[in-house]
Amino acid sequence: MGLRPDEVLGVAKPDWKTDDVVMLEEMATKFLEAEVLPHYERFEKQEIFDRSIWELAGENGLLCASMPEEYGGAGGTYAHESAILEAIGHVGVDGFGIALHNSIVAPYILHYGSQEQKQKWLPKMATGELIGAIAMTEPGAGSDLQGVKTSAKRDGNHYVINGSKTFITNGQLANLIIIVTKTDPSLGAKGTSLIVVETDGQEGFERGRNLDKVGLKSNDTSELFFNEVRVPTSNLLGTEEGQGFVQLMQQLPQERLQIGGSAIAMAERAIAITSDYVKERKAFGKAIIEFQNTQFKLAELKTEATIGRVFYNHCVERHVNGGGLDPVTASMAKYWLSDLQNKIVDECLQLHGGYGYMNEFPIARMFRDARVQRIYGGTNEIMKLLIARSL
Ligand SMILES: Cc1cc2nc3c(=O)[nH]c(=O)nc-3n(C[C@H](O)[C@H](O)[C@H](O)COP(=O)(O)OP(=O)(O)OC[C@H]3O[C@@H](n4cnc5c(N)ncnc54)[C@H](O)[C@@H]3O)c2cc1C
Repeated sequence: MGLRPDEVLGVAKPDWKTDDVVMLEEMATKFLEAEVLPHYERFEKQEIFDRSIWELAGENGLLCASMPEEYGGAGGTYAHESAILEAIGHVGVDGFGIALHNSIVAPYILHYGSQEQKQKWLPKMATGELIGAIAMTEPGAGSDLQGVKTSAKRDGNHYVINGSKTFITNGQLANLIIIVTKTDPSLGAKGTSLIVVETDGQEGFERGRNLDKVGLKSNDTSELFFNEVRVPTSNLLGTEEGQGFVQLMQQLPQERLQIGGSAIAMAERAIAITSDYVKERKAFGKAIIEFQNTQFKLAELKTEATIGRVFYNHCVERHVNGGGLDPVTASMAKYWLSDLQNKIVDECLQLHGGYGYMNEFPIARMFRDARVQRIYGGTNEIMKLLIARSL
């Protein structure tokens, strides 16, 4: 490849990309190129990663980089997680579910877990022995999370969980799952609680299908079923029942920022590979880069991606060094950057002509993988609702 995705835009290095963040990004890139990329076709075909890759990622410092060292992490911040998820987008192994494990699941345990819970779960998440998932969505409740029906009823010092979840990322591999439940259905959102289920040997827990998706084929996305699943009451996250909705609202900004980060990384890769392609491919006796339409299209995409990158860097700066990213700006990052990613990938596919529609060309897979970014993590319509409320 001529142009490197991480250099294609020429945006100044932000303050949060400290030397150790840059080093981690380089290390993650090397790891993904050496250990994941050569097998990626196979993961796409089998629609799941090999579990051993997770453990290898743990050994190489790619799991729980932002968790404190006392819990087996590397003591970093979201900037370190961003380095890893950007490496994933730049290398093009977008179905590797470690970003969700690292910067969505682990933070719930860090922020709301008791000392005992943190000591029990986080070190194993850092090695890959435990793979994390978060199960919010149900067949009847996606955007409207208040409609969650999965119930957790107290029975002595246990909860008895009943219900089903769907579209759960890492759903086949995960063995530590945070479940959004209703501990008191009469209270609506205030009756919502997050409960951790360790699935190994757990009676009443069943995985459904590994769902057949349009893209992100290498990620296992599943249905999950809970039938009289008994877990100790000490698996509740938080000091009392009913805190789940507030916990979700507090953590969703980072999830949304992360989707924005992967969106801009993938857009940069699309521009890099397309710039290379149009220099090679000839039509009417010249390279297609020589047509003014190609130049103008790529000029527009590079400009918009630059705006996107500057905005993302600003959001990370606020999140890491500025006291926290507010939910409205996080929603803007998720919606606008994922829309931009889809536009850029679509235009780049067009510049590939028929080859862009062939699965053997990376841009084809990027086209399929990009689409869901506008849907999960809260749809872009829901993001606009959240932004509009601030007006
Ligand atoms: C590949 C993949 C991975 C996923 N991973 C996870 C995961 O790990 N964990 C998890 O819990 N969930 C996960 N999800 C689920 C995802 O978060 C939901 O699909 C998403 O929140 C939308 O919910 P829904 O599918 O029920 O759509 P619906 O809520 O049924 O929405 C359908 C349409 O209606 C629109 N809509 C809904 N309400 C409004 C409104 N008030 N105003 C305007 N428009 C509205 C939506 O924007 C959408 O266009 C994943 C989904 C996919 C596809």
